[in-house]
Amino acid sequence: MNVYNSLTRRVEPLVPLADNTIRLYTCGPTVYNFAHIGNFRAYTFEDILRRVIQFNGMKIRQVMNLTDVDDKTIRGANAQGVALTDYTKTYKDAFFADLKKLNVQPAEVYPAATDHIPEMIALVEKLVAKGIAYKSDDGSVYFSVTKFPGYGKLAHIDFDNQRTGARCAADEYDKENVGDFALWKAWEESDGPVGWDSPWGRGRPGWHIECSAMSMKYLGETFDLHTGGIDNLFPHHENEIAQAEAATGKTFVNTWMHCAHLRVNGEKMSKSLGNFFTLRDLIEKGWSGREIRYVLINAHYRSGLNFAFTALEDARKALARVDACVDAVEKQAAGAAAGTAPDWARGALDAFTAAVNDDLNVPKAFAALFGLVREANSHAAALDAASAAAVLEVFRRMDTVLGVVFFGKAEKAEVPAEIQALLDQRAAARAAKNWAESDRLRDEIAAAGWLVKDSKAGQTVAKK
Ligand code: AMP
Ligand code: ZN
Repeated sequence: MNVYNSLTRRVEPLVPLADNTIRLYTCGPTVYNFAHIGNFRAYTFEDILRRVIQFNGMKIRQVMNLTDVDDKTIRGANAQGVALTDYTKTYKDAFFADLKKLNVQPAEVYPAATDHIPEMIALVEKLVAKGIAYKSDDGSVYFSVTKFPGYGKLAHIDFDNQRTGARCAADEYDKENVGDFALWKAWEESDGPVGWDSPWGRGRPGWHIECSAMSMKYLGETFDLHTGGIDNLFPHHENEIAQAEAATGKTFVNTWMHCAHLRVNGEKMSKSLGNFFTLRDLIEKGWSGREIRYVLINAHYRSGLNFAFTALEDARKALARVDACVDAVEKQAAGAAAGTAPDWARGALDAFTAAVNDDLNVPKAFAALFGLVREANSHAAALDAASAAAVLEVFRRMDTVLGVVFFGKAEKAEVPAEIQALLDQRAAARAAKNWAESDRLRDEIAAAGWLVKDSKAGQTVAKK
């Protein structure tokens, strides 16, 4: 499996450092609002990445942080007069429900920033002790970029001639404003009740230190792979490298991958531009998670993708074509054990494998899938049951990566409407924190022969 490494700017083999396991850190959402489908372009890209890693027989350990303290979350909570944790919980829950709607595999760990303040303070203390970070007059702590010679290596910019000794208190800034960045921010009036005690007084962590502290806690001081949207590359990821490598003296991450933006009329889809759709917006308009997933993944992750409703219409047609073919092959297989796959099916799988292993070329992988659909349509009537079952296996194997062929079909068909209605009531009861009602509904669903399980991603149901 080869991927493009933003650090070296080359396509390179992805080889695990240890245990046949890729340790992956993915920058997660700032939980101050519902995520928009631009954000989900990043999360579906990372989902494809983890699925291709597993497709190649490697194991995965993925950590995705939840940024539940920063300027935006504090502003939102204080504006509503609610505790920060209550404010962010709504959006954390929504995020997990949305991931499930998009058939995104859960990460192994979802650490929240507010649960890791001691780890962040310890990392800042280490940098202060080494003389790389310093306390400013207001009680904030800054990273001195001139003390880390590798600064700029990810963004491929030589900052030597630009260094002014200036400081930048904001978490997000551009290359023109490079300067010492905040590791710890002293408490201010506008922070209200939000703050933690530290050796430098009351305050809160900067955004960048979160990711260095939590990634190293769960993945080690050196790990395989780190990803995010291209906007994370500078300054966020550059600063993560500086903080981690200055503290440990070791390489922080071997491979960095970044996805290009989802755009609307040529502009980045973003909260600040107001040109965004949340997943909920699109679902309310009648599009399914499966169709939205199809649109988000069906462009190479390093190419810009312009969002348009016509793409959703195309997705609906394309998926209907796949469904009709898979249904026909399923009938033909009639539950038989898989025999040898016909040459054309094996050829399609080879093309598919080559595509995903070539820096996640998903559009080419879809072309292989549609090649399989065409061949299967022209051969279906002539297939014996064992060959048809083998063709189904090829569809299944491709779908371990794409996650759109069987997704949404089987589940809908299997769970009866009356059970689904009870599940929906239970989800509403849980959202309203009505635990007694949630338990009562679980028992009622159990009495009807179905077992409900709760996870961070929401409830799942299986036949008892
Ligand atoms: P944020 O909540 O803004 O920190 O963003 C969460 C993730 O979504 C980050 O990895 C961003 O790089 C990514 N992201 C934000 N906007 C877009 C977009 N329009 N297209 C693709 N990825 C995005
Ligand atoms: Zn991050």
